[in-house]
Amino acid sequence: MMKKPALLQFSHSRMSLYRECPMKYKFRYIDKLPEEPKPYFAFGSSIHSALEFLYDVKEPPFPALPAVLAAFKKDWESLTPEQKGYTDPAKADADYANGLEMLQAYYKKHKATLSVPVSVEFRTKVPVDGLDVTVIVDRIDHLGGGKIRIVDYKTGKHVSREPDQLYMYQKILESSAELRYKAAMRTGAKESDISVDQLVFYHVPSLSEDVSPRATDREIAAFWEKALVVGENIRAAKFDPQPEERKCRFCDFKSRCPIYGGGAGPSPSQSDFFGGLLSEPPHKAAADVLQDKAAAYVALLEKISALDEQALSLKKELAALMAEKNVHSLEAGGCSVVLEQLSGLEVPDRKALVKTLRETGLYEKALALTPKSIMAVLSDEALPPPVKDKISALVKISRRGDVSVFKK
Ligand code: SF4
Repeated sequence: MMKKPALLQFSHSRMSLYRECPMKYKFRYIDKLPEEPKPYFAFGSSIHSALEFLYDVKEPPFPALPAVLAAFKKDWESLTPEQKGYTDPAKADADYANGLEMLQAYYKKHKATLSVPVSVEFRTKVPVDGLDVTVIVDRIDHLGGGKIRIVDYKTGKHVSREPDQLYMYQKILESSAELRYKAAMRTGAKESDISVDQLVFYHVPSLSEDVSPRATDREIAAFWEKALVVGENIRAAKFDPQPEERKCRFCDFKSRCPIYGGGAGPSPSQSDFFGGLLSEPPHKAAADVLQDKAAAYVALLEKISALDEQALSLKKELAALMAEKNVHSLEAGGCSVVLEQLSGLEVPDRKALVKTLRETGLYEKALALTPKSIMAVLSDEALPPPVKDKISALVKISRRGDVSVFKK
């Protein structure tokens, strides 16, 4: 029987680095050579961290501006300027001040329209076509009716971007059962209705959004073809250098690169890591051992994936049973299992609801259109019954449960 090859670790950053220069990819991911820290990475990371803090709430209120700025400061100060790659402390101070200004401007622009996202920093790993693809999505918003938008923050100078990164996110998120479940829990929409509707690059320095509709199946297929070619080339150990003045000038591996007179051969341990692809083929017995190990690894990944599905389904059953029996927590296997009640809100005709709320002077009260705010409006005893009936007819509030497990 033909044994399947092991899954190849893959992500958008791996793919784009390979396309930039295959040899640079080899230095970074196969030889695992360290790179110099870069100030722009540290800056971007602190801005991302502050925005994650801002949006990481289950319901309003959102953190106030001083707390968001404090989150930025905390992340910024977790490394010294040297550890961030600064050679000039004055430049580090200027970037810090710039980050504070950027976040103040962001907060001012968006504070009135902040809405609770489906997820922030959503991380998942999905095996597809022999690739084990990891994505980490900055923010996933709900647009209503199960439609979601994928948001990626950019903090560099340039606004324009290739759409490949968002295509990768769309491709992976649309096949993620974990995301569908989470989005359904958060929004009250059916899992089968969860779909990607918009792809957004948000450029924080200019506060501008580059919004595209969901990529078509044809666009995704064309993108994925390119990704698979990169995967095949990596498996085939095609790591030829692709020099280009602009790229090489800032390359940390220049001294090792054969283009610049360096010896690029891998160490023995690196050859082992790559299953013999980078050196002389191992003798037959060793090849068999490798095949067995790779096959055992693949089998284990398949088992983990099947167990993940089982655990998710059991979790749903358990949450439903605990909600039905009105059990809020219980002890099992040395852990506390706690039921969390979540409300979802579906508004099939948002315009009609906003119109009704405005006409009846209730819009300010229900501003966030969350289950909580709508329920507060509906449970107000002073609300005239005809208004209550009209609003009730325009919304569907569902209650669901989720369980969290805490080690004792
Ligand atoms: S120096 Fe240039 S060619 Fe060599 S690895 Fe770096 S980017 Fe590639």
